[in-house]
Amino acid sequence: MLRIENLTTDIATDSGLVRAVDALTLTLERGETFALVGESGCGKSMTALSLLRLLPDSGRISAGCIDLDGTDIAQLPEARMRDVRGKRISIIFQEPGTSLNPVMTVGRQITEVIERHTPLRGTAAHAQALDWLQRVGIPEPERRIHNYPFQLSGGQKQRVMIAIALAAEPQIVIADEPTTALDVTIQAQILDLLKELQAARNMTLLLITHDLAVVKSMAHRVALMYAGQVIEVADAKDFFAQPLHPYAANLFGALPEFSKRGHALASIPGTVPPLNQAFTGCRFAERCGSAMEHCRNAPPELHTVRANHAVRCVLYQDAGYEVPVQAQDLGGDTTAPTPAHAPTETLLEVRDYCVWFPIRKGLLQRTVGYVKAVDGVSFSLAPGRTLALVGESGSGKTTVGKGILQLLRHNAHIRGTATLQGQSLHQLQGAALRRVRRTAQIVFQDPFASLNPRMRVQDILAEGVASLCPEVTAAQRTQRLLALLDRVGLRPDVLTRYPHEFSGGQRQRLAIARALAVEPQLIVADEPTSALDVSVQAQILNLLQELQQELGVAYLFITHNFGVVEYLAHDIAVMQNGRLVEMGTADAVLSHPQHDYTRSLLAAVPRLH
Ligand code: SF4
Repeated sequence: MLRIENLTTDIATDSGLVRAVDALTLTLERGETFALVGESGCGKSMTALSLLRLLPDSGRISAGCIDLDGTDIAQLPEARMRDVRGKRISIIFQEPGTSLNPVMTVGRQITEVIERHTPLRGTAAHAQALDWLQRVGIPEPERRIHNYPFQLSGGQKQRVMIAIALAAEPQIVIADEPTTALDVTIQAQILDLLKELQAARNMTLLLITHDLAVVKSMAHRVALMYAGQVIEVADAKDFFAQPLHPYAANLFGALPEFSKRGHALASIPGTVPPLNQAFTGCRFAERCGSAMEHCRNAPPELHTVRANHAVRCVLYQDAGYEVPVQAQDLGGDTTAPTPAHAPTETLLEVRDYCVWFPIRKGLLQRTVGYVKAVDGVSFSLAPGRTLALVGESGSGKTTVGKGILQLLRHNAHIRGTATLQGQSLHQLQGAALRRVRRTAQIVFQDPFASLNPRMRVQDILAEGVASLCPEVTAAQRTQRLLALLDRVGLRPDVLTRYPHEFSGGQRQRLAIARALAVEPQLIVADEPTSALDVSVQAQILNLLQELQQELGVAYLFITHNFGVVEYLAHDIAVMQNGRLVEMGTADAVLSHPQHDYTRSLLAAVPRLH
């Protein structure tokens, strides 16, 4: 269907020309699902945008050809390219909320594509749009066709995006992280829908994702990208049976899962190199446990090691390539299993906890009702244990965490009790409440938004100590900060830097260091790894686990990532619509879920094994 040869894309930036895609060569067959995988910044999305010639103004395709049925679309004039987009190749973007037009009804957005690329007009185009809404499983399509995007849920918006992408019946659909923004149950529905539509129409699907479990459930072939290059390409079953490139093997080792409980995850040291430089050797050399001298002197070529399996690594260029590269050979150190913390004493006790947000109406803003975000939740947490609070978005997980830490008391009605070390949190005010904040801290989901961009790291870390630990002298404070940085794996010279100078993983380490600075006994961790790549996630999870083993910190871990839950949690509480529907030890909930909702959540999780 599509032959991409030596595709090279450059982006002009302040720090020089960035080669986002470097000599990418691939072919896509009719009716297959081809997955392009890799961590952020490896060039996956730039490849997709290059194929559709939708690059930002500063980007250009500087070399290569994109052969679609004999036509090099990289050279087509823009006017003819418009006939390709939507009609021959279309795209489903990652974030349905921002990729739909907010001021057009969804029906109009689908009809626009139909009228642009097919002979249908007026009522016929409208009927066709209605048919697409039906096919992608939108309930009450006759009513929904007149809705604006804000009136639909996240899953429904992504279904509309799929309808728009398929409305002109293209031969190739690019799905760029189509389910990353969605909950597991909606993700499972969308992936099933894509599979069904693909089989029914024999279309080619280029699936771009960082989620290896999604790839395993969907793809026929896989290409792994790193630093703008394809470093491994194989049939999916071969790739998952024996990944060859050291980076691939290490990515598998870094995935949290049940079988790795009590062991440190394999971590990949360092970060992806900046792409505004000329490389003299292997781009992975600085992070590779198997690097040799000549890896740094000459860039390895993509080398076919067996039918349909090629890899860019010198280990496989000689006859003796058979030695399989395992994650544990590459830094996946293991530690003793987590000691079982018997829940003998209670650190946090939550009883019949409710957080209701008032609905106000009218000139006088009278309260006419309540949104019951959390409704009658009870649980307890012992020192040194991790309770995972799981559920879909909107189930009330984050509200529980914020409510307990008294971050919502000014805009919500709170009922029930939350007791920390025997003290009722809701009755505390002023200095007494501040003293409790020393015991309980929070790590927010977004490491980019949770650090003050105008403060240096030393001020960010010292602020809490200065206000909550008055007995600590300035000299002791500095000592504590240096010890903390060492603890979270950052160098002392970062103290004078600002947050924007750090990567996402480093910022999340800073956020964890800030929480630890006051030596808390409870940390509410609100999706602390959801914005991070697998390798950085492994570093953060290892760190959290080490801290728990050494300091006995308890975690209320809020997440929708079941891999993390299986790996880290001692106990699990499942939330649905503001209520706890199931709670128990991790083993019991994961192996014998009792509630239908828990069962459906677990069934929807894509798995590697
Ligand atoms: Fe590691 Fe060398 Fe292979 Fe690169 S070429 S992945 S540095 S062994």
